[in-house]
Amino acid sequence: MLRIADTFVVENPTSLDEALYLLDRFGERARLVAGGTDLLPNIKHGLHAPEVLISLKRVPELRALDLDGDPFVLGATLGIHEIAQSDAVGAALPALRSAARQIAGPQLRRMGTLGGNVCLDTRCVYINQSAFWRGALGYCLKKDGDTCHVTVVGKKCVAAASNDTAPVLMAHDAQVELLGPRGARTLALEDFYVNDGEKNNALEPDEILTAVRVPRPGPTRVASFQKLRVRDAIDFPLLNLCLAFDLVDGQVKAPTLVVSAIAARPRRIKGLPEGPLNDDLVRAAGELAHKKIRPLTNIDADVAWRREMVPVLVARAFAEAAGGAA
Ligand SMILES: Cc1cc2nc3c(=O)[nH]c(=O)nc-3n(C[C@H](O)[C@H](O)[C@H](O)COP(=O)(O)OP(=O)(O)OC[C@H]3O[C@@H](n4cnc5c(N)ncnc54)[C@H](O)[C@@H]3O)c2cc1C
Ligand code: SF4
Repeated sequence: MLRIADTFVVENPTSLDEALYLLDRFGERARLVAGGTDLLPNIKHGLHAPEVLISLKRVPELRALDLDGDPFVLGATLGIHEIAQSDAVGAALPALRSAARQIAGPQLRRMGTLGGNVCLDTRCVYINQSAFWRGALGYCLKKDGDTCHVTVVGKKCVAAASNDTAPVLMAHDAQVELLGPRGARTLALEDFYVNDGEKNNALEPDEILTAVRVPRPGPTRVASFQKLRVRDAIDFPLLNLCLAFDLVDGQVKAPTLVVSAIAARPRRIKGLPEGPLNDDLVRAAGELAHKKIRPLTNIDADVAWRREMVPVLVARAFAEAAGGAA
């Protein structure tokens, strides 16, 4: 039964304990909200119909930013704008600041938060539509229907992870801190994301993501975030990636590549070449990524073009990361 929320109340807890209490009290009738830049459009599209929104914006414990220790700690309600503008983040995690700078547009970055970005719902050309539009098509597996219009025969939603911080954080082996009534737990971001577009993370309904922990990169580690989108001023990614590697005396060591906006979760590409940083190495890395990445029609852009852009973005990432090191 489709119900579109026309009213909801907003609770504004001022501590984590209060937020957890409210989550427990309202259960399935409630949803957490941070900046609301993803949740509110989805409510308007009839994807959720909460009676209560529990806002995290006034919970001081969630605003941490510690770049002095190891790991770095970034609180869940740290603003995307704050990350994008921070010289300290730029020095510690340049690829993360670059990703934050390319999220949406200025107004959305002012409202949006890191936690909201990490927990961003998956996107698909068939789901991010009005309820009327989706109803005309008979809805789909992700909400109210039984067919996937992308795979047609598939029984799993393949909507795309579209959060720009995710590949960067995964390439830096980040962990997420989750807090719920059973206590706190820490998960590698790699294990936090699951391959199901209906719900692509391991967060339980009564849990709050409190912080992201990122191991301090070593002095020779360099990284670059690259994004493909229609309009640089605002759009979601059609493809994004983060490449990180150690650059020692012109040699690439321990390269890591995470590619996203393709499927329900970011994908780590294994087996990248090590050795002297030259055209041959960059070409080999791009060819490997191209072989492994096969975009779907879950996003409204030509799949062949998105795939052909994989080695292009890989080459740009090598150039930017090595340039930053120089
Ligand atoms: C026009 C437009 C363009 C956009 N472009 C981009 C883009 O280019 N790249 C990109 O990455 N995003 C983009 N976004 C999406 C969004 O603006 C950002 O991802 C933003 O960072 C989301 O953060 P938020 O705090 O607003 O999330 P919210 O909308 O508040 O929350 C998103 C989801 O996360 C959950 N949540 C939030 N915080 C927590 C927490 N601490 N613990 C547990 N669950 C939590 C919410 O319940 C909700 O399900 C765009 C949005 C719009 C409308
Ligand atoms: S991938 Fe399929 S099931 Fe998932 S949102 Fe798109 S059409 Fe719906």
